[in-house]
Amino acid sequence: MLCRIGDVEIWRILELNGPYLSPEELFPADGVEVREAIKTHAPHQLCSASGKLILPIQGFLLKTPSHIILVDSCVGNDKTSTHADWNMRSDSRFMAALTAAGVTPRDIDYVMCTHLHTDHIGWNTKLEDGRWVPTFPNAKYLIPAADEEHFSKDAGIAYKQSVLPVIEAGQVELVTSDHTLGDYVRLISTPGHTPGHVSVLVKSGTAEAMITGDALHTTAQCWYPDWRFKYDTDGDLAAVSRRRLLEDASEANWKVLGTHFALPSIGRVTAKGDSFRWDDD
Ligand SMILES: [Zn+2]
Repeated sequence: MLCRIGDVEIWRILELNGPYLSPEELFPADGVEVREAIKTHAPHQLCSASGKLILPIQGFLLKTPSHIILVDSCVGNDKTSTHADWNMRSDSRFMAALTAAGVTPRDIDYVMCTHLHTDHIGWNTKLEDGRWVPTFPNAKYLIPAADEEHFSKDAGIAYKQSVLPVIEAGQVELVTSDHTLGDYVRLISTPGHTPGHVSVLVKSGTAEAMITGDALHTTAQCWYPDWRFKYDTDGDLAAVSRRRLLEDASEANWKVLGTHFALPSIGRVTAKGDSFRWDDD
């Protein structure tokens, strides 16, 4: 178990933890300073051999007293991707992590997709007899409505492989950013990375934890909230959302789980001047 928030257990479901792209490529508008800032503030996220940013791909499993909820379903097997490490994978690590948490695919009540990018929806479906079918047969898949609208236009291969089959199976519920999921989980609107992007707040008693999704990709963005990420749909809006999220995290002293932060991906944020400080738990 990664941590406990009151009555809720949170488990890390890790699929991959490897170098992705160079910092300069991921934050192109912010130039050469990015690498130095990451070296200073997130040194474990820089791969010394390749010079690339290490990007963990992981979901978080929430075991509440009433539901089992998977937040983000990673890259998946047999999927088509332009990124070589994500293309046509055949790997048991994700499923092994579910087993380690004491959960089978049939047990999952909800799959919450923070947004509809490839590395957050892959295990939504699996290939069975040449057809994509829902991996979690008893789950409702909660998808931000604004993302469904955006990604269904000129639908790409990821949408066709990992979203459409679940819609056709009648298992998708489109949600708005004020959605609550049982007594312990609510969504926080953080648009910009994608139009409907949400972060996820877990609350039990006085304990609270927030899962970032892709509102941030590295803890260095706590110090530099205005960096623009290469794959943001609207980088300006993403920066506004990021700053607001960090302010709330600091104000409420949330435990923060960074979906793509270097492992252990868990810590807290403190306001510091015009930006924020990150401390690992
Ligand atoms: Zn991502």
